[in-house]
Amino acid sequence: MIETLSRLLLRLSEAEHPVLWGRVAAPHFGRDFDRLLAQGVLAEDRAADTWSVCSDCDCGLDARPIQRIKGQLIAACPNDHRADVELSAEDIRSFRIDPAMLMRLISSNSGLNKDPESILPGLWKLGTTVGGQAVFAALSVAASIQPGLMGALTRAARGSPIALLVPKGIPGEARRCLEDAGPYVAAALDVVGVSDQNPFAIDVFRLVPPIGHTPRLIIRESSGTTTLDGRSILLSGQPHRLLVMLAQSAATGNGVVSNRDIEDRTGRQARDIIRE
Ligand SMILES: [Zn+2]
Repeated sequence: MIETLSRLLLRLSEAEHPVLWGRVAAPHFGRDFDRLLAQGVLAEDRAADTWSVCSDCDCGLDARPIQRIKGQLIAACPNDHRADVELSAEDIRSFRIDPAMLMRLISSNSGLNKDPESILPGLWKLGTTVGGQAVFAALSVAASIQPGLMGALTRAARGSPIALLVPKGIPGEARRCLEDAGPYVAAALDVVGVSDQNPFAIDVFRLVPPIGHTPRLIIRESSGTTTLDGRSILLSGQPHRLLVMLAQSAATGNGVVSNRDIEDRTGRQARDIIRE
């Protein structure tokens, strides 16, 4: 199975200067990829002129130069021509990932801030959920273990409960320290791209600790269905949307959704939807 583009970019962004190679990107080339280029999430860099050496090679090179032989691009092994790799023009393309633009895309697709605020190097405040939880993300390991992190989160959260997205690669000890300090800590790869419909969105239901018993009320945002104690409940579009907002608020914040929030998101009077 091919990793989704959103998860691929997040995983690569754990590095401090993330680069996406053409060979890895090629299965994703197409409209969605072009949109990321247009949005500035990706920027094409110059093509590679070296390639990694073959595994367990004793050639002593750090990288092998890419040669063009009779029109064919080849990463030639100086020791063994059978280990030569033929490359396509797509393979050697390279793209820089702009973490700030990636954050903006995820934040706006998640219904959070359209302009996430960088509060420390590599650390963003993505906004506040309907439920009042302040959501932050540190993409690189360096950003998630930097000095002053907790103080900056606390100031920027202004009293709201904090959820912090971190890279999978964060050392276990560092992650436990963060958890002990109060925030709910989740790996970005576990909460972003859960829905196929909206691959660059955070599933805010995953920003709370898992509950250790069987759920009574199950609301599926993507299919618009609701079940209570195993019985299916029919709700039309906007009442269902309202139920999702209430559930998000109850799960991640103070359980209150204002009339204004309801009207902003549905374009209708709150009392009309509640009556439905
Ligand atoms: Zn070799």
